[in-house]
Amino acid sequence: MNFTEDTVLITGASNGIGRGLALSYAAQGAKVITCDKDEEHGRQLVGEIREQGGNGYFYSCDVTDPQQIEKLFTTIEEEIGTFTILINNAGISSFKSMFELEIEEWEEIIHTNLRSVFLFSKLTSGIWKENNIQGRIVNMASTRAFMSEPDSEGYAASKGGIIALTHAMAASLSKDSIRVNSISPGWIQTENYEDLRDKDHLQHLSNRTGKPEDVAKACFYLTDIENDFVTGENLVIDGGMTRKMIYEH
Ligand code: NAP
Repeated sequence: MNFTEDTVLITGASNGIGRGLALSYAAQGAKVITCDKDEEHGRQLVGEIREQGGNGYFYSCDVTDPQQIEKLFTTIEEEIGTFTILINNAGISSFKSMFELEIEEWEEIIHTNLRSVFLFSKLTSGIWKENNIQGRIVNMASTRAFMSEPDSEGYAASKGGIIALTHAMAASLSKDSIRVNSISPGWIQTENYEDLRDKDHLQHLSNRTGKPEDVAKACFYLTDIENDFVTGENLVIDGGMTRKMIYEH
């Protein structure tokens, strides 16, 4: 696919899936703006993109802080201009008994994973409406929006919230030709893929564990300007894990 006409903003892009998305979009010719609270790896990533002939930028931003987000948008407008694709990827996972989870910890998860999606999308779509840009938003949810292990209440709620927020925003923004979709990754191994065991791979219907590139391909599909019949949707990228029926024999 060709993203040479696009500029993409990716949150939480210094590591993991976001990093993979940044490299993949850059390889397809997009201008890539990354933000994260991890400055060291963010700057390394941009160096890597530029070494490979791509066009990359990094800005430090804590997505739980509304003031930092507003400042980020002002800086991007001054230094780069508008962008056409937003990937709300930043997220934390924290697993702890609901009886021990403090209110501050609950809020940290919800503000990082869910509130940031609303704030970035609101500011972005405001700019797109003003400039008549047919923008595309992808929000990173999780298969944990649909299935659970114990002690994952905050994370599951934040990801379920993202899926609901996605179709609500798709409805609100449709008159401005802005599309909003989400992706629910399953197990995406972002480091040391070679250390995975056979049983890690073989529990998937796909017979392998996921990689950031698998999520990138789904993002490409959802953000391609030509795919304008897809909005408000959630795409599960999990090697079939949530379709697998499990009976203990
Ligand atoms: P990751 O490797 O931990 O990367 C997340 C990045 O977001 C890190 O660079 C992290 O910085 C940054 N970040 C965290 N809190 C932030 C904040 N408040 N402000 C700015 N940046 C922040 O995670 P990942 O596995 O790539 O996951 C990426 C997204 O996919 C998340 O939304 C996650 O829930 C979702 N997901 C992942 C999987 C999976 O199997 N990997 C499965 C389903 C869904 P620090 O390193 O400094 O914290």
